[in-house]
Amino acid sequence: MNTKANHSIKCSVNECEHHCNAENYCSLNCVTIGTHEANPTLCKCVDCESFQLKNKTNQGSVK
Ligand code: SF4
Repeated sequence: MNTKANHSIKCSVNECEHHCNAENYCSLNCVTIGTHEANPTLCKCVDCESFQLKNKTNQGSVK
């Protein structure tokens, strides 16, 4: 479980391996933000490219 929240990076994506579970923050020192659009115009056009799907088998366990 990630316990070192980076309070400069708020995030609510609990499904991400780097999410801080109990707190809505990312645990990484920095993240990469990008876009999947040719001409982004809305917030939903941009993505956190540091996202990694949490290993479901590890959910709830203490690492
Ligand atoms: S890597 Fe991106 S999606 Fe994952 S917890 Fe950090 S900010 Fe959220």
